[in-house]
Amino acid sequence: MPAVQFHRPYLTGTEEAHIAKALASGHHRGDGPYTEMAAAELRMRTGAATVLMTPSCTHALELSAMLLDLAPGDEVIMPSFTFVSTANAYVLRGATPVFVDIDPGTLNISVEAVAEAITPRTRAIVVVHYAGVACDMDELGSLATQHGLRLIEDNAHGLGATYLGQPLGSLGDLAAVSFHDTKNFQCGEGGALLVNDPELVQRAEILREKGTNRRAFMRGQVDRYSWVDVGSSYLLGDILAAMLFAQLSAFEEIQSRRHDIWSTYQAELAGWAAEHGVRQPAPRADSTHAAHLYQLLLPDAEARHRFLSHMADQEVGCAFHYVPLHSTPLAARLGHRRDLPVTDSVSARLARIPLYPDLGSAELDRVVHAVTSFTP
Ligand SMILES: *Cc1c(COP(=O)(O)O)cnc(C)c1O
Repeated sequence: MPAVQFHRPYLTGTEEAHIAKALASGHHRGDGPYTEMAAAELRMRTGAATVLMTPSCTHALELSAMLLDLAPGDEVIMPSFTFVSTANAYVLRGATPVFVDIDPGTLNISVEAVAEAITPRTRAIVVVHYAGVACDMDELGSLATQHGLRLIEDNAHGLGATYLGQPLGSLGDLAAVSFHDTKNFQCGEGGALLVNDPELVQRAEILREKGTNRRAFMRGQVDRYSWVDVGSSYLLGDILAAMLFAQLSAFEEIQSRRHDIWSTYQAELAGWAAEHGVRQPAPRADSTHAAHLYQLLLPDAEARHRFLSHMADQEVGCAFHYVPLHSTPLAARLGHRRDLPVTDSVSARLARIPLYPDLGSAELDRVVHAVTSFTP
């Protein structure tokens, strides 16, 4: 293990007490008291009217794809610069992912590229708020409205961030959140689907409950429940919801620690970055970000390669991001054709440095020293 780990899942210290309470409650399956408490926190944080807790962000994305009723040949536009789950969810429903390029500044999906990629087969636009920095939601929303498309936020990075004062996750028809242990708030594996279009709520509840109207039954709205649609089991167990509730209860503390570390990097690395042509993160001036990760863009692929081995020598864990989806064997099988020069360039040059709430000040100094002792 390096002296400074790239990632370390954070614990607030209150998880055990909440988990013990969930164990003692006798309600261990999904949709128990802690599920409701975690969902209530998320409704408060995001303004989403309906929050459905899921076993992962991947599952929340899959639910979003089921709600679109996609047919083979339907197209879903998304960035190539993302995690596989963004695309898998729609491919599983038979749709064709249309990978488009990103903006070199925000590293988010390019609005011009989306506009160019829309065809009569397009059904939805899926956006990723990379590093918790908001996409151009006004422009993307207009495009979606103009062409009758669904707009979905993969908000795995952006819980707690805003776009022009509005919470990320509240801007698409649907939004997916992750509570994987690498994310800002974690319960090992977990997620949520935020349903912002009221017309989708009832069906989302049914698909998540094995295609039954059990939720309506539990609320006393129908006198028995039955199989009314297709579906699967996308519930988060209440024990994990208890762990998540502990984390969400420490929202401000977690975010302020992450922002402190992020801001220290931004200040301490500025001179070195400017001198060597390294690009620091450039969050939007009009919105807040989520301090989800801290990335550096090295001048070229060769410098990134040397940077990662230098950091390994210095015993500081670092990581690249992402293997662009359009360059993968599956994308080739799905017939991807477009050139995505910004995505290729960014993914070949990007390196992430450690960022987690309990990164100590000696560790932080060690990271800063290791970075600034590198000459690209
Ligand atoms: C982490 C992540 C996911 C998947 O989240 P899980 O909760 O692990 O399923 C999806 N999209 C993006 C952009 C992610 O970073």
